[in-house]
Amino acid sequence: MSRFLITGGAGYIGSHTAKLLSRAGHEAVTYDNLSRGHRDLVRWGPLIEGDIRDTTLMCEALRWFKPDAVIHFAAFAYVGESVAQPGIYYDNNVAGSLSLLRAMMMAGTQNLVVSSTCATYGQPKNMPITEETPQEPLNPYGQSKLMMEQMCSDFSSAHGFHYMALRYFNACGCDPEGETGERHDPEPHLIPRALMAANGEIDRLDIFGADYQTPDGTCIRDYIHVSDLATAHMAAALHLMNGGASGALNLGTGRGISVREIIEATARVTGKPVPHHFAPRRAGDPAILVAATAKANAILDWKARHSGIDYIISTAWKWHQNESRQIRS
Ligand code: UDP
Repeated sequence: MSRFLITGGAGYIGSHTAKLLSRAGHEAVTYDNLSRGHRDLVRWGPLIEGDIRDTTLMCEALRWFKPDAVIHFAAFAYVGESVAQPGIYYDNNVAGSLSLLRAMMMAGTQNLVVSSTCATYGQPKNMPITEETPQEPLNPYGQSKLMMEQMCSDFSSAHGFHYMALRYFNACGCDPEGETGERHDPEPHLIPRALMAANGEIDRLDIFGADYQTPDGTCIRDYIHVSDLATAHMAAALHLMNGGASGALNLGTGRGISVREIIEATARVTGKPVPHHFAPRRAGDPAILVAATAKANAILDWKARHSGIDYIISTAWKWHQNESRQIRS
């Protein structure tokens, strides 16, 4: 049994990872300030209510719990918000990660897995995107995550600690047992919004741009199930704990799906029409983002096994229906 401290464990991907670690027999403590996380999603270990920018509290938590690895999810993650309010992104994602790194050095914690993103690549010319593709982010969110990666690399060189940056593509789907899921307010993401449209909670889904250079004119993304992301985090932490090298890995499926295909799949899975209409492009949206997956496969012996699109949408639909029943009652 190993011990993991999960920052942002009350959030979407963090709570799925806490459940996986606990089910695998490990001990997981969540560290979260609940600014965007949810107390009721912390179900697989204790919660320390604290801010990652509170270096003293984080250091005390690390000295008390003595984790084998920290898994760092706590961050803001909306592209549009980061353009409007860059300061809160640099504060939480960059200063917060720096505070965590300092606390880890003070407490002598050796291993760190961090949430990064395909947004660090911007809009590369060639697909699929490999880890060697230049990182040229188009917005403060991607920039803040790139700065976090660079700090990890510098701290690793200077202090000999170990890290793995996991660059997710489009995280989606929910726990198949319906025990945790995606709860954002407001909800900007495509699949939850398509489910809201199918369920009559919004009048219609906006398709942001039908004039992209793609086969059906809509944007293409690489959608990966949150359970696959959770498995990769556990594998990355164990890799570091077993003396594996530091670095960065893409987490995706290698398969691109268009916005139109998501709408078709949502109608197929829910059995309901998804009212939609065409809207202007959303600022900062690249046309196509698809991951090259060979490196994560080779280093972690991992690949996405639960990321068929109908499965993704059916698990998200199950969670969505439970959530909307609870809101109504
Ligand atoms: N999208 C859309 N309508 C929406 C939300 C998203 O057409 O209401 C598109 C968006 O332009 C992008 C894709 O769906 O091409 C995925 O967007 P999402 O916000 O889910 O994730 P992102 O790719 O921004 O991380």
